Amino acid sequence: MVRHLRPPFPCLLLALCLLLTARIAAQPQTSWTVTPLPVFELHSGFWINLHHTLYQEARQRRASTSRDANAAKPAPSAKTVLAGKGPLTEPEQKAWDDAVAYYAANYANKDLLFTTELIQLKDQLGDFEDCDELSGRKRKFCDAGLPPNLTQVLEAAAPVYRAHLWPEHDQANRRWILQVAPLVREQGVGLSERLADIYQTRWPHEKIRVDVVSYANWAGAYTTVDPLRVTISSLDPRNQGPQALEVLFHEGSHGIAEQVQTAIIRECRQRDKPIPRDLWHALVFYTTGEVIRTVLTSSPASQGDKSNGVAKNEYSAYAVREGLYQRGWKNYLELLQRFWQPYLDGKATFDDAIARMVSSL
Ligand SMILES: [Zn+2]
Repeated sequence: MVRHLRPPFPCLLLALCLLLTARIAAQPQTSWTVTPLPVFELHSGFWINLHHTLYQEARQRRASTSRDANAAKPAPSAKTVLAGKGPLTEPEQKAWDDAVAYYAANYANKDLLFTTELIQLKDQLGDFEDCDELSGRKRKFCDAGLPPNLTQVLEAAAPVYRAHLWPEHDQANRRWILQVAPLVREQGVGLSERLADIYQTRWPHEKIRVDVVSYANWAGAYTTVDPLRVTISSLDPRNQGPQALEVLFHEGSHGIAEQVQTAIIRECRQRDKPIPRDLWHALVFYTTGEVIRTVLTSSPASQGDKSNGVAKNEYSAYAVREGLYQRGWKNYLELLQRFWQPYLDGKATFDDAIARMVSSL
C-alpha cells in the first residue's frame, strides 16, 4: 500500500560533536550535522515526529472517548498535545483536528510495532525528512508515494505542527542526541562487538538508523527489522541520562538476538517443553544491562559529565529500575543470574547456558 522508496539523496546524518553544545536552534527540515558517530546514525526528522505525535493524540482521544462512553457521561473536549501551546487560528485548528480524526479512524487501533502498514509508513516518513512536502508538487523527488488522503492530511497538519510543536520537539530530540553522543563515540564500537560476540553473530555492517522522536510508543522505544530501524522517544523519562545508552543498545540488540530465540526454541522442542514467552527478551534486557553497567562504571565520558556520572556499581539496569523482573519475570531473572551470567563471565558456553536455562524452566 505504501511504496517503500528511498529518496534519491542521502539522508543527512545527525551525528553530533560536542562543539555543537552551544545553542540548539530548531530548524526546518535541513539537518545539522557533523562528525558521524560509530554504530548508529541519529536523526530528528520532521515527518516522522509529526506522524508519531498525531498517532499519540489519536490514541489519547480514543482512550478518553471510550472512558467517557463507559462512564456514560458526555465526552468533554479531548485534551490534546497542542493544549497550552498558544492559540490556534480556526483553519489551524481544523487542519489539526482533521489530521487527528484521520489517524483515529485509520491507525489508532493498530500497533506501531506489529502493523506492516505503520512500519512502512514510519520508514517512509523517515526517508523523506529532508523534504518539506510529501506530494512531489514542488520537487519531484519529494513524492513519497503515500495514499493521496494521507498526503493531504499530513501536508495540511504540517504548518500547524511546525508553528506550535516542532521547535520544542526538535530541540528535545537534539538535546537527547547531544547527551548520548559522547558515550556512543567513546564506547559504541566496543559495545557493539561485545554484544555481537555474546549473541554469536555480527553487528550489522551498516550503521543502524535511529529516529529520535518526541513520542515513540507505549514502551518509549521500539525496533522494526528489514530494514533494521530504531525509534526512541526523547521525552520519555525512562530514556534519560546514562540509560539512553542502554536503550540504544537494547533496541539495536533486537537486530542481532535471533540466535538466542532459535536456541531457546530448539532446546524447548528437544525437551518437549512449551516455549517460554519473553525469555529471550528478558535475556536481552539482562545482557544489555550487564554490559552497559560494566562500561558506564568505568567510562571517562560518563565520569566527566555530572549528568552522565555513574559511580562504580551504581548503575541500575533498565529492567531493574523499571521493575520488569517484578512484573512476571522473577523466575527468568533467577535463571539468567544462575546460568547466563557464567556465560557472560566466560565460564560457560552459549549452548550450555541456554540448555541449562531451558531445562530448569
Ligand atoms: Zn526490547
